[in-house]
Amino acid sequence: MYNRSAVGGAANTQSGNRVFVYEVVGLKQNEATDQTNYPIRRSGSVFITVPYNRMNEEMRRIARLGGQIVSIRPLGAENQGNGTSAPETSNRLQQEKKEEAKPMTQAKEKEKKDIPVNIYRPNAPFVGKCMSNEELVREGGEGTVRHVKFDLSGGDLRYLEGQSIGIIPEGTDQNGKPHKLRLYSIASTRHGDDLDDKTVSLCVRQLVYKHPETGEEVKGVCSTFLTQMNVGDQVKITGPVGKEMLLPDDPEANVIMMATGTGIAPFRAFLWRMFKEQHEDYKFKGLAWLFFGVAYTPNILYKEELEELAAKFPDNFRLTYAISREQKNAKGGKMYIQDRIAENADELWNLVQKSNTHTYICGLKGMEGGIDEGMSGAAGKFDVNWADYQKQLKKEHRWHVETY
Ligand SMILES: Cc1cc2nc3c(=O)[nH]c(=O)nc-3n(C[C@H](O)[C@H](O)[C@H](O)COP(=O)(O)OP(=O)(O)OC[C@H]3O[C@@H](n4cnc5c(N)ncnc54)[C@H](O)[C@@H]3O)c2cc1C
Repeated sequence: MYNRSAVGGAANTQSGNRVFVYEVVGLKQNEATDQTNYPIRRSGSVFITVPYNRMNEEMRRIARLGGQIVSIRPLGAENQGNGTSAPETSNRLQQEKKEEAKPMTQAKEKEKKDIPVNIYRPNAPFVGKCMSNEELVREGGEGTVRHVKFDLSGGDLRYLEGQSIGIIPEGTDQNGKPHKLRLYSIASTRHGDDLDDKTVSLCVRQLVYKHPETGEEVKGVCSTFLTQMNVGDQVKITGPVGKEMLLPDDPEANVIMMATGTGIAPFRAFLWRMFKEQHEDYKFKGLAWLFFGVAYTPNILYKEELEELAAKFPDNFRLTYAISREQKNAKGGKMYIQDRIAENADELWNLVQKSNTHTYICGLKGMEGGIDEGMSGAAGKFDVNWADYQKQLKKEHRWHVETY
């Protein structure tokens, strides 16, 4: 059933798995090279192991450091070619092979993966049916958040974890025109909650606010439409869209997730794929760490299932709540995600530095500032400027943000 998920698996071609040794000259001992771990030999040569998928990147790096590549050969052919063998480095090369044959960057994955986008456009949306609509906020919690599942059978809509779909609510706006679509993060895996590849699920909070001038209660158009749907009701769906929040194919990647409220939606899809479903081509072996910020305990969406996973997979899944109105931070204030980051600064910082760690942020627009503050503190403990470091993470497509 899950063979369709092999889209990214095929990316690991034979050449994609190979590792090469660059012999480089001209890398003088200086401040920049001191920050690398290249052993510069007396002859002036440096031998660097490079996985196939990072060859271009490494060439550019070497050029930036003023080096010149004099030979490139596959690892294991150290004693062939130009005679500049480096037997004494072979252990190190093996070690580096292990360390550097890291997963492809997500940019490369994106190129190779079959990412479905805009299969259905607003002028010809897919018309699905509501199959279920369940409240996720328990008694004593704030507001309404519903898990809504739609039937996709009869259509071509397919999607990946981390993507969103558009919903066009029924009715017209104040100008008499059809409503515009609203985006919602998909909360199910590509196989859907029933594992039959025929459904898509959302996690929707009903927007309710007081009109700033009249003080009247205003209800959001689309969120009200969705949260009040009955089983059998029709829904116009567009998309899927989004490439920012895709889960790395590498089953050994570390995945840090930071969510507030309905920002849990893509992470539910991630976690279900990692731990609930069984896949031939994807058996998660990394660390998944979810920081989940909510106001009250009854607002912890999917609580039972998340805790069940945390109990069942303690080596691979960590669950950290920040319950702002109930828990206190170290200073006695409200507990937000950034306070949890501060508490776990050393571990997080170690993790973020690994080239196979991806960090995802999803939820309320305002949450990024606090997370930057927390990460700034974590990086600052090690004398690293977070803003600079974050730029690098973004360049490497390892820092993913979707806030709304
Ligand atoms: C990529 C992406 C993913 C998303 N995923 C999800 C998701 O998984 N779950 C989810 O619930 N939502 C999600 N959203 C938000 C969703 O798209 C809608 O914006 C949300 O449901 C509100 O739409 P609505 O039609 O109900 O509100 P509308 O009727 O469109 O009203 C929204 C408007 O109300 C006004 N407004 C809102 N709050 C206030 C306030 N406090 N004071 C004054 N005016 C205010 C603003 O003008 C705002 O533009 C996502 C958004 C994006 C961009």
